[in-house]
Amino acid sequence: MTTPILETRNLSIAFGGLRAVDDVSFSVERNRITTIIGPNGAGKSTLFNLISGALRPRSGHVLIEGVDHTAEPPYRMQAAGLARSFQITNLFFDLPVAENLRLAAQVLEPWSLALRPVSASRKALQRVDELLERFALAEKADYKAGALSHGEQRRLEVAVALACKPKVLLLDEPTQGMSHGDTQDTAALIKSLTRDATVLLIEHDIGLVMNLSDHVIVLHQGQKLAEGPPAEIRNNPAVQAAYLGHV
Ligand code: ADP
Ligand code: MG
Repeated sequence: MTTPILETRNLSIAFGGLRAVDDVSFSVERNRITTIIGPNGAGKSTLFNLISGALRPRSGHVLIEGVDHTAEPPYRMQAAGLARSFQITNLFFDLPVAENLRLAAQVLEPWSLALRPVSASRKALQRVDELLERFALAEKADYKAGALSHGEQRRLEVAVALACKPKVLLLDEPTQGMSHGDTQDTAALIKSLTRDATVLLIEHDIGLVMNLSDHVIVLHQGQKLAEGPPAEIRNNPAVQAAYLGHV
């Protein structure tokens, strides 16, 4: 058996008396899309906070390629190959699109070059061009991020998360608030990410989940209710009762 790219073991955290994430274990296969679903308040975003190190679990572990990285700071997580985009938009609105990307791509530069002038940052600038092209943002490169449409901002956010060439990308509801057209475009984009990365997604659009996912994990009241291929999850009576019956 090969080592999973990402694994959680018995992750738990409580806020006061509320068990927001309760003994959650799963593993994520390389270059696949694994999607977390569940009702509002099920603990999905909190689970991402535990995986990314933003929150320290009360108990349990986060492993990246078999190595324990529980509750490590963001730069260590990034070095281990993990990146995330946030449910709440996380861009520098007053900076141009290209500059948002360049700042995120700067970690690709060797340390010895990190303090050189911008013009010396060849790897980062090359990455910016690649991302502008791939995310269809080249024409908006000089716009302030704050001047983009909602859909474009969400797209830029995914591009920013991808800038450092992560092995695993955590995406928290990337299609939230998007039009149908933008949602379909984003789905295609997420699918394309699996060429060079592994995607762990939180998504509420169940049609999209079923189309896009290789593997689905259902959270309910902080606990893992079920996991399996999309078709199996759709037909699972416990999942239908707890979640699918209501969407
Ligand atoms: P989801 O993303 O599935 O909608 P969340 O992970 O955001 O759910 O929240 C799970 C539960 O934990 C909710 O009841 C929420 O109110 C609570 N919660 C989340 N973060 C905090 C926090 N920092 N402090 C207290 N309660 C929190
Ligand atoms: Mg959430």
